[in-house]
Amino acid sequence: MTYKLLDGKDLSKRMKQAMKLEVQSLAEAGIVPGLAVVIVGNDPASRIYVNNKKKDCEEVGIRSFEYALPEETSEVQLLGLIDALNQDPAIDGILVQLPIPKHLDEAKVIRRISHEKDVDAFHPYNTGELMIGRPVFAPCTPAGVMELIKDAGIDVTGKNCVVVGRSNIVGKPMSMLMLHANATVTVCHSKTKDLKSACRQADILIVAIGKADFITADYVKEGAVVIDVGMNRRDDGKLTGDVDFESVSKKASAITPVPGGVGPMTRAILLKNTIKACNMHKKNMLS
Ligand code: NAP
Repeated sequence: MTYKLLDGKDLSKRMKQAMKLEVQSLAEAGIVPGLAVVIVGNDPASRIYVNNKKKDCEEVGIRSFEYALPEETSEVQLLGLIDALNQDPAIDGILVQLPIPKHLDEAKVIRRISHEKDVDAFHPYNTGELMIGRPVFAPCTPAGVMELIKDAGIDVTGKNCVVVGRSNIVGKPMSMLMLHANATVTVCHSKTKDLKSACRQADILIVAIGKADFITADYVKEGAVVIDVGMNRRDDGKLTGDVDFESVSKKASAITPVPGGVGPMTRAILLKNTIKACNMHKKNMLS
């Protein structure tokens, strides 16, 4: 079967071009969207993610502010910074790069970010709004997946969608977006019995488990749409997904590559959320 490549690099580029124009028109009104990026410690992967996000901001004209804090930063210090950023009118979005060092309470840190500046959509206020089908900010990775599917003209209504992984940042919000888009959704995880046969039911299979090349062709129904969220670093330093692209692409009707699939889409949605936050704050200022 010949497959359609779901090219996140290309779509995110098109989205960024449109966002650049939107930011330009805001600039003409004297408004510049601002994103605060907070990084704690020296995790090399986090450093790469933060640099990429700053580069994206620059590309579309969003002002980014980096706060690089040392590994030994106390919770009081981090919460204090978040409080200050919540109050700062130049900042529309606040992102704390995860994971943060173990001595800091991640849930507490996320809750401290004003839900109006929570452009990652991790705050329980925003996850709750998502649950009832009224998301303020789109959860970046799952919304990026939805955009890719929509752009490819794939109809989700009534399809069997199997999401493998139930994390708060990918699996759970992904299943909600698919449910709201009228798919019939099954969520699998490490305790799922017979994962293979569950996956074989999928018209749309979305994998977010963090295990390199785990999903092979025998997990996939002929003609399925396969979305690989995984980002795993091989011993040779190369990036690879959770799906064995080589074998699965022979059966899939559409599939995302890694890199160049979901990753760039996640970054594009973050920019979209930051611009949305800016528009919301601007409206608040005017009212
Ligand atoms: P996570 O928090 O570690 O969650 C992994 C999930 O996968 C858990 O729900 C776990 O089940 C499930 N799982 C693990 N092994 C499994 C197995 N053998 N069979 C079935 N389910 C299994 O990971 P995450 O944050 O969701 O990230 C998942 C992957 O996506 C990682 O590679 C990450 O780097 C990548 N990611 C990519 C992007 C992007 O923009 N492309 C964004 C975020 C994450 P239990 O709940 O039972 O433990």
